[in-house]
Amino acid sequence: MPLGVEPTGKTKLLGIIGHPVEHSLSPAMQNAALAELGLDWVYLPFPVAPENLEAALAGFAAIGVVGFNATIPHKQAIISHLDRITELAKAVGAVNTVWRTDRGWEGTNTDVEGFLAPIRHRPWKGSTAVILGNGGAARAVVAGMAQLDCGKIGVVGRDPEKLTQFQHSWANSPYGANLETHLWEELPELLPSADLLVNTTPIGMSPHVDRSPVEETLMAKLSSEVVVYDLIYTPSPTKFLQQAQQWGKVAIDGSQMLVQQGAAALRLWLQRDRVPVEVMSQALEQQLGKIA
Ligand code: NAP
Repeated sequence: MPLGVEPTGKTKLLGIIGHPVEHSLSPAMQNAALAELGLDWVYLPFPVAPENLEAALAGFAAIGVVGFNATIPHKQAIISHLDRITELAKAVGAVNTVWRTDRGWEGTNTDVEGFLAPIRHRPWKGSTAVILGNGGAARAVVAGMAQLDCGKIGVVGRDPEKLTQFQHSWANSPYGANLETHLWEELPELLPSADLLVNTTPIGMSPHVDRSPVEETLMAKLSSEVVVYDLIYTPSPTKFLQQAQQWGKVAIDGSQMLVQQGAAALRLWLQRDRVPVEVMSQALEQQLGKIA
């Protein structure tokens, strides 16, 4: 990975913590953007085991790390180690972006902004969203659609207990007002009224690329105006999105979300309104090309 700068003692540090972290696509995206901007900054992958999280944060503070991303398994666990998190991160229950201030470490969740980026130009007020899956990514989608004043947000899961917990976890949140939870058996009745159908399950991800969360025949129940969105970015398109395209629906994959959550993080760290999103997108495509 070529860096834009020869690192010196003055080089500003950014990075990502995860366990494992070696497959992260973020260093390529972020370093491409930093190089394009001509900044003396680098973004590094840091493998941090769960038991070393607190020590890692202390170390980052000691060496002046400006900010970092957190990925699996740290997105929830890191919250208790931060000095402040945004209301959005509280609602989602996960932090993926952290930065250092005079008050200590602060965190937010830029997955929501990333998810919304390719769809926010459409009118969603009063619309109906159907979300497949009730894990971490589904929480970012719920918060995102609530921000757009979506009228009905249906979350579909396979485990009644987890669904109940999911519903309860939004009880005191401004983002949970229009939320309903459903079992997969109810999907056929939910599909005709969906304006947005989002897959947040890993079904269809490499190597199980021939799988789709929705049976082919059920796609016929979707309206002609529906937007079908898969958070998966490899493969692209997934079987789910291929089915949607065959039925003539608008289909969006997870690559823009990935780029835009990174761009949102970079804007925070650099305190700039604009970062080179297109360069980040090209760097991601190049990395994904290497994986394919
Ligand atoms: P997660 O927390 O593990 O949640 C996965 C959800 O999918 C859970 O609700 C799980 O149900 C459900 N699920 C898994 N296998 C299933 C199956 N065979 N049938 C029915 N439901 C199933 O994972 P996550 O962090 O939300 O990530 C989910 C997906 O989103 C991954 O593919 C990830 O790569 C993608 N993602 C993309 C981006 C992006 O930037 N594009 C960002 C975040 C995530 P149970 O709870 O019942 O097990």
